[in-house]
Amino acid sequence: MSPRPVRTSPAHPELLLMLGSGLSVALIVIIVAVLLIREHASTLEAAKRSTTNIAQLINADVLRNVELYDLALNGLITATQREDLSQVAANIQHLVQFDLSTAAPFKGEVLLLDADGKVIADSSTLRPTPRNFANRDYFQVHAKDANAGLFISRPFKIHCDCDQVWRMAFSRRVSGPKGEFVGVAVATMRLAYFDQLFNTLTIGNGSSVNLLNNNGILLAQQPLLERDMIDKDLSDRPNFKRILRDGSGSFQAISAISGKERLYTFTNVGALPLIVVVALSSEDVFAPWRRAALLTSGATGVLCAGLLWLTWLLRRELRRRRRAERVLSELAATDALTGLANRRVLDERLRLEWDRAQRSTEPLTVLMIDVDHFKAFNDRHGHHGGDDALRSVAQVIGSNIRRPADLAARYGGEEFAVVLPVTDAKGAWVIAEHIRSAIEYMPKVSGDDQPITVSIGMSTWDKRSRQSLEALLLSADQALYEAKHTGRNRIVDASVL
Ligand code: GH3
Ligand code: MG
Ligand code: MG
Repeated sequence: MSPRPVRTSPAHPELLLMLGSGLSVALIVIIVAVLLIREHASTLEAAKRSTTNIAQLINADVLRNVELYDLALNGLITATQREDLSQVAANIQHLVQFDLSTAAPFKGEVLLLDADGKVIADSSTLRPTPRNFANRDYFQVHAKDANAGLFISRPFKIHCDCDQVWRMAFSRRVSGPKGEFVGVAVATMRLAYFDQLFNTLTIGNGSSVNLLNNNGILLAQQPLLERDMIDKDLSDRPNFKRILRDGSGSFQAISAISGKERLYTFTNVGALPLIVVVALSSEDVFAPWRRAALLTSGATGVLCAGLLWLTWLLRRELRRRRRAERVLSELAATDALTGLANRRVLDERLRLEWDRAQRSTEPLTVLMIDVDHFKAFNDRHGHHGGDDALRSVAQVIGSNIRRPADLAARYGGEEFAVVLPVTDAKGAWVIAEHIRSAIEYMPKVSGDDQPITVSIGMSTWDKRSRQSLEALLLSADQALYEAKHTGRNRIVDASVL
């Protein structure tokens, strides 16, 4: 049996190394991922904040201008309802009626219609051209509903050669003393106002600012995502359905027009039936984050790959070292000629098993084996032939001990020793006899009619004996001496001496 290698390094250092570096890499990846996720969330928050600010800005501007229009309409209605107005000259009447109509920007006409829809006063002229607007949506709403308040019409174009731009109308009902319908005050505004307002905001490519009325009709969009978008009914589009339902808020969704993801932020314009929608392209919003994420992930990937590579190199070195150490320790523990344990290992194991036997009180047997007339064998077959014979004897001895704790060692020269822990004299005798007879019946060396034989001295320690280790070895030696003197090729148990 070959000696056990002496362990010089801790168990599985490579496993610890791989585990450590694997955990480090996992930790780095987790930290970077968490940071990137947090950065993504804060980018989204920042985009929401800035779009909300844009929406509030538009909100305030639109609200202020609609108020100016409402002021002009209320001024016109109040002036019209004065009974003393008919007593002054027509130009003074005109001045009083349209006094407040000048401040509003992108103003078209401010008109006063009678109960039949006929224009009876026009801010642009003292003598209005005969026109009738009874078919207009605002006229019909006010005619039917006394509580319509300030009505904002759908966008429309005036069908004349002069001016083909989009407009919308703000209107209020004019009531008589008893609340009866006497006409409508209406002011039109060019939608270019919104384009100019939205143009002043920088929102990036692929993004748009929109103004809708609360029926989902698009009043303005900057930049226009498609041709003929103005006056389009968007109320059946899922994103706008949600916007119309919620009134104000923010969400991310795929745009039905571009098919790309967008961040929608929207708010009601005061108490007016208008909604401002700022739609930012998610691609634009997250472009800086994506660049940073790409850079960070790339750098992290390289770092982790480097770490794993270094770990692998270190692991390979450790393995090499362990292998070298194992070979060295095996060499240091092995007898070079026979491959059995050497004297050093024998001494260590004897001491170890002796101590163990003292603790456990289990028996311990030692065999001392010496090749008979080996000097003469050497003389007959030369030193080389002698070495071969020693190898054969060692091989037989090694193959006859089977338990892991047993040890066969070369004691020196042509002498061997076998340590048999937890083995009493009876058991050890059987093993010794196997060894003796197996050697005797080894194939003879050619040209030699004498078999190689061994003499074996055997000594057993058990709990009744009071021997020391040295005394045990000495008695095994004496038994061997006795075997030599009583004819060789035999076993002598020290207990019979
Ligand atoms: P005995 O039966 O009394 O043991 O006689 P012996 O000749 O075996 O004993 P002795 O001690 O007189 O001789 C031992 C010989 O073993 C001497 C030496 O030449 C030989 N020998 C010892 N070690 C080696 C070795 O490593 N190789 C070879 N070939 N011979 C060895
Ligand atoms: Mg000898
Ligand atoms: Mg001998």
